[in-house]
Amino acid sequence: SLIGSDRVRAVVGLGATGLSCVRFLASKGLDFFVVDSRDNPPGLDQAKLLCPSDKIFTGDLSILETLGVTELYVSPGVALRTPVLARLAERGVSMRGDIDLFCDYVDAPFVAITGSNAKSTVTTLVALLLQACGKNAKAGGNLGPAALELLSPNTDFYILELSSFQLETTNALQADLACLLNVSEDHMDRYDSFYEYQRVKQKVYRGCKAAVCNKQDILTAPLLAEGVPVRSFTTKSPDLKEFGMLADGDGAWLCRGVERLYHTSQIALKGSHNYANVLASLAILELLGIDILSDGVGKVLSDFCGLSHRCETVRNYRGAAFINDSKGTNVGATLAALQGLGSVSNKNILLIAGGEGKGADFSDLIKPVSNFVRIVYLFGKDADRIAETLSGDTEIKRFDTLDQIVMSAANEVKEGDIVLFSPACASLDMYKNYELRGEHFVSLVSAL
Ligand code: ADP
Repeated sequence: SLIGSDRVRAVVGLGATGLSCVRFLASKGLDFFVVDSRDNPPGLDQAKLLCPSDKIFTGDLSILETLGVTELYVSPGVALRTPVLARLAERGVSMRGDIDLFCDYVDAPFVAITGSNAKSTVTTLVALLLQACGKNAKAGGNLGPAALELLSPNTDFYILELSSFQLETTNALQADLACLLNVSEDHMDRYDSFYEYQRVKQKVYRGCKAAVCNKQDILTAPLLAEGVPVRSFTTKSPDLKEFGMLADGDGAWLCRGVERLYHTSQIALKGSHNYANVLASLAILELLGIDILSDGVGKVLSDFCGLSHRCETVRNYRGAAFINDSKGTNVGATLAALQGLGSVSNKNILLIAGGEGKGADFSDLIKPVSNFVRIVYLFGKDADRIAETLSGDTEIKRFDTLDQIVMSAANEVKEGDIVLFSPACASLDMYKNYELRGEHFVSLVSAL
């Protein structure tokens, strides 16, 4: 239990998640400190309403070493390898996160979804599908609202999107259903190795009661006790209990084993990566005991076009489709977009990429770029590094701003082209977040 007078707690890092911990601990009448390295962190004013001001310390984390803390609630934005946190952990201070607190109090089944990409899409889709089947399902976590803000009576299912940073500070997840969608390099600036990142992603399966994994990505395979039900999905033809696809004329059937479930023409989401997302969602629903052939499921699949900034068509201009995939913040996402939209017969993609590369290796893009892309336009902090990696037979153009790129691309498009804005990088070198970057692209394209 959390009620123990010998515990000295601190919330480390404000912002949306930290603030949710502050609100929650305060609502339970528990004492805690708040510490943030920034002088004026976001959420400070709200925290002051919930915590005595002599318990709030800003500007430096090292104060933590003098407070006698035994238990920290570390926000996802704060790395556990920050020296003062590493020292405290070594002394036995427990490093927890908002999800541990959620697990202490949750009293309805919950689904934990992670992966390098597609988390938000699948989390949202699963919640919509459950709602359409008459369940009171609440989605949140990394995509917001914070997990703790979701807790409320009469909930049938909580659907949580978890980031690798959240999993780092989660000690005992024990989800009713855990799903790892895919693992590809991301955040290499916060991990010592790709192996360490994989290990953190695998934590989603700890103590779970059922699991869903990706047959086409060996790194998602769970190591579980015997008897824990597992379903896998693939965009190829499935084995008996698997979710997969069977080609059929112009489209394909989404199947469970040999059973045909939905034809791609009945599904609003497009691209093979999105069919993988639908299959993952159906596998999750089945393990939750929901009838995946019910009318509600069919209706949601034919209505849900995806979230904004994820391969979203902005407009057609001079016969070319301009697509905003600003949420493509790592190599894996851009790879999926190229494979989902590309056609080998006519290299008709004009790819716009660049930004803050987070230490990633871009070489996985070499092949799809040479297969599908006619021109690459680069901007942002790591433009030169990407250009070096991609230098080959595809034309590469480098610009300082997105404005110049959209102008240039608009002049160079041909009928049937796809102008794909999928940066493969974070936005933080030039924008406050990926949403603003995407909105900038949309406004430039709309003004053409
Ligand atoms: P996350 O929450 O994991 O960032 P999103 O659903 O927001 O995931 O999508 C992030 C990016 O990943 C977008 O660029 C999207 O087009 C791309 N994406 C979507 N589905 C997949 C998939 N199955 N595999 C790889 N990338 C994907």
